[in-house]
Amino acid sequence: MIDLPENFMVSLREQLPESAILTRLEDLAPYLREERGLMKSDCEVVLRPADAEDLAKAVAVCDLHGVSVVPLGGNTGLVGGGIASGGVILSLERLNKIIAVDTLNHTMTVEAGCVLANIQKAAQDAGCLFPLSLGAEGSCQIGGNLATNAGGVNVLRYGNTRELVLGIEAVLPDGRIFDGLNALRKDNTGYDIKQLFIGAEGTLGIITKAVLKLYPAPRSSVTVMAALPRLNNVMRLFDNVRATCGDRLTAFELIPRLGLELGIAHVPGVDDPFVDRHPHYSLIELTSPREGDDLRGEIEKVLERALEDEVITDAVIAESEAQVHQLWKIREELPAAQSREGGSIKHDVSVPVSAAIEFIEKASHAVKSEIPGIRVCAFGHIGDGNIHYNLTQPPDMDKQAFLDNWECLNRIVHDFVVDMNGSISAEHGIGLLKKMELGHYASSVNLDVMRQIKRAIDPNNIMNPRKIFDRG
Ligand SMILES: Cc1cc2nc3c(=O)[nH]c(=O)nc-3n(C[C@H](O)[C@H](O)[C@H](O)COP(=O)(O)OP(=O)(O)OC[C@H]3O[C@@H](n4cnc5c(N)ncnc54)[C@H](O)[C@@H]3O)c2cc1C
Repeated sequence: MIDLPENFMVSLREQLPESAILTRLEDLAPYLREERGLMKSDCEVVLRPADAEDLAKAVAVCDLHGVSVVPLGGNTGLVGGGIASGGVILSLERLNKIIAVDTLNHTMTVEAGCVLANIQKAAQDAGCLFPLSLGAEGSCQIGGNLATNAGGVNVLRYGNTRELVLGIEAVLPDGRIFDGLNALRKDNTGYDIKQLFIGAEGTLGIITKAVLKLYPAPRSSVTVMAALPRLNNVMRLFDNVRATCGDRLTAFELIPRLGLELGIAHVPGVDDPFVDRHPHYSLIELTSPREGDDLRGEIEKVLERALEDEVITDAVIAESEAQVHQLWKIREELPAAQSREGGSIKHDVSVPVSAAIEFIEKASHAVKSEIPGIRVCAFGHIGDGNIHYNLTQPPDMDKQAFLDNWECLNRIVHDFVVDMNGSISAEHGIGLLKKMELGHYASSVNLDVMRQIKRAIDPNNIMNPRKIFDRG
């Protein structure tokens, strides 16, 4: 092993069964790739412990030998947080048990390597809902969701992953196990230490178990796609729906015409639900835990008024489960469709909801002046003020020549975001990809506090080093 200290592998093999240690090149390959193909891990050992105790032993050995550890969940992260440069990758894939479902307490206790879709299914089987939902749910793991404080399509109603968890168990960088695995809705006993691990992208420890909040399962729902003549109208429609439907509004997504066209061009099964072309669309979902709630009647009234007021020009209400899937497919496949169109430069930003349209308009004007012909595909969780402000290359431009503008376009877009008191990373995290941007925009106090916390918990800097910020 080139970069590993002598005796490290011997110590590791004393603590872990052989089945938990991968070193053959062909076994390592799937762990070294990265979702967007922008980076690749350079690492010769992957550890796959079967439980938190073995995981803790492995981390203690790494700490003793000063070997860095990169925790890896479903490997769907979009900012390179799971990229290793030397050291070991520690996969959570074998910690995949659903430990308990308590329907009276409305909680589920799980191991961190459980795939999100399996957790959703277990909640459904128990007559409940675990509301975290995102395009990668068939592969991402709850540990990764917690480590990145993932958002997704239901944040509007249920909040980010941080709001969906009551307790956490985590292995600290020195191999001790932090036991914060309680299922309490009230616990004011000093610092809420579990919060440190949520959104820390594996830099402070490895989450091994979690107690998740469950909600009553939806028993009525309606899904609508509305067509809008002007971007400005999106927020008027959002305001009307929210005022009328309250917290029955669970999702409100923006899709531009370009997004739909890219889907039609590149993703089989994506079709235009309308006869006419429209410049903007909103995908809206209402749900209620009450059987027979007339959500359809409710949304129809809002849509009729919106048509009269010329806020919308048309709307489609899904008539079947299949049509619900078809409408959501347009939204969920949009990032993949965009990637197939050539070079794309993506920004996952948030601004106050009231500034979302102004942000899109100002940023679009500026990027179009910088690169004539650039195609703006601004879509996503507009009801949370979270916009995936993605830029697609002009059709006749060389892909690499377009991608060479990455830093310049980042600066243009992020300057507007920061001017509007927004965030340069709404839900994907910082990892490696946005580290420079965080360094550019974060206050020195903010970075200093983060570094102090890192030094206190991980004095040997072994836990996912060089992610989010350089420790200095
Ligand atoms: C098609 C698609 C759609 C997506 N949609 C959304 C979306 O709507 N909203 C959103 O927020 N994100 C979205 N993402 C991004 C990604 O799916 C989420 O960030 C997800 O939460 C990552 O989970 P994972 O298990 O794949 O983590 P990984 O990619 O394996 O890891 C992500 C980070 O978490 C750390 N980590 C992983 N597991 C642990 C653990 N147990 N303990 C400590 N650290 C750990 C890793 O070191 C890394 O830094 C999407 C991704 C794709 C590919």
